[in-house]
Amino acid sequence: MSNILSDFGIDSRHCFIAGAWGPTASGETLPAEDPSSGETMGEIARGAATDIDRAVAAARTALQGEWGRMTATERGRVLVRIGQLVLEQVDQLAELEARDVGKPLSQARADAVALARYMEFYGGAADKVHGETIPFNAGYTVYTLREPHGVTGHIVPWNYPMQIIGRSVGAALAMGNAAVLKPAEEASLTALVFTEIARQAGLPEGALNTVPGLGEEAGAALSEHSGVNHLSFTGSVPVGSMIQAAAAKNVVPVTLELGGKSPQVVFEDADLDKALPFLVRAGVQNAGQTCSASSRLLIQRGLYDRLLERLAESYRGLKVGPAIADLNVGPLISGSQKKIVTGFLDLARQDGLQIAAQGEISAEAPAGGHYVAPTLIAGLAPDHKLAQDEIFGPVQVVLPFEDEEEAVAIANGTDYGLVAGVWSKDGDRQMRMARKLHCGQVFLNNYGAAGGAELPFGGVGKSGHGREKGFEALYGFSSLKTVAAHHG
Ligand code: NAD
Repeated sequence: MSNILSDFGIDSRHCFIAGAWGPTASGETLPAEDPSSGETMGEIARGAATDIDRAVAAARTALQGEWGRMTATERGRVLVRIGQLVLEQVDQLAELEARDVGKPLSQARADAVALARYMEFYGGAADKVHGETIPFNAGYTVYTLREPHGVTGHIVPWNYPMQIIGRSVGAALAMGNAAVLKPAEEASLTALVFTEIARQAGLPEGALNTVPGLGEEAGAALSEHSGVNHLSFTGSVPVGSMIQAAAAKNVVPVTLELGGKSPQVVFEDADLDKALPFLVRAGVQNAGQTCSASSRLLIQRGLYDRLLERLAESYRGLKVGPAIADLNVGPLISGSQKKIVTGFLDLARQDGLQIAAQGEISAEAPAGGHYVAPTLIAGLAPDHKLAQDEIFGPVQVVLPFEDEEEAVAIANGTDYGLVAGVWSKDGDRQMRMARKLHCGQVFLNNYGAAGGAELPFGGVGKSGHGREKGFEALYGFSSLKTVAAHHG
């Protein structure tokens, strides 16, 4: 048991630095677990500070070399080629991600397609970001230049490795930065294959360096490194806060995406047939381990009993099983994540909350897998822990409200603010709600807009700050220089 990536022509125990695959300085490895069975599939590298040092140095060198000399158009072409190669291997990437993360195969496939889409989008956008001329005093010509930050550090979680790599590394490379990528120890495999694909597509040496390892070792070394000029982090609030402190020490910009407790607000005039699949899917997709999961469903009082019954019916039809079986819901990523989620369910029972319905764990789910039945919970106050904390599991809470004012108060009543959905046919109300909701994205009569690489994404409050996706990410991954020429 060791190398799990021989089908892709690489060794899963290696990291990628300065255009070459090789072992870490220590040669140490970490186990890669299949969450569907709990079994160890093989090993990945356990990178540490020395490897991060080498990776940052390689990225710095790349900025002075072939990569740094490329025009924006040439960078764009490389990214588009990466996207094409990803599309050619979508099925292989999907199967690998399904095994590594435990997400149902079709969801993993959608992530692989999204990765390709990010490469196409940022490849196409690379030469379309430009400065401006600014009218100024007589005798001056003033213009702005958008320049790369330099070396960018990307610390990525395990829940959507391909999508998060696509949106953050894609945008950073498009702007001419050189990247160091630290995937999550729980799920590094598609990051490694993506890196190999980028190499095959002709990405110059040092432009992307990938070092798997533990958060407190490789992750901390990357976030604290004085040679890194920008940090992008997606993950938990406590670690995000540490990353921001490390960035502050080195005085570098940081983008934080830290999850949420995102509501969908359903008014009495909503189209329920349209809303229902979104309401449930947004809570249980990827077993609820989604930063933008809709874990709170706010229902207007006159609709409450009727909709709760329809939601319960949907929940009773949810099937849970191994990723490869491609049922509605897969396992959680790990035993420790399962413990966190079942802890919340124990608290719900202890506090006498209403377990409105649960999905079913299929008989084919191996005993060692980290399965939790999707659970719909009602009968709780908006300030209950289950209605406030990010559970990161397939658990949704249902909260009634009287009117628009109360809906806004409940929706905005957590520390988070990532996304929100509003279901109503009243156009004026849609506009008012979109303004009043405290978050980074609002969806009117839909939820998630099918991912949307084009759509800026990020949070307010404890959901983080900075924007990834869309053109906003290109501004975030670049620095603006103003040039003022006095020519009389
Ligand atoms: P985490 O924040 O610990 O890990 C995310 C990434 O940060 C991983 O690559 C990890 O190796 C790295 N990391 C961990 N400690 C680090 C450190 N000291 N310095 C630098 N990097 C470090 O998240 P987790 O432990 O995998 O999950 C715990 C909780 O975080 C979940 O229950 C969930 O609430 C939340 N989470 C949110 C998202 C999201 O998309 N917003 C993703 C994953 C986890």
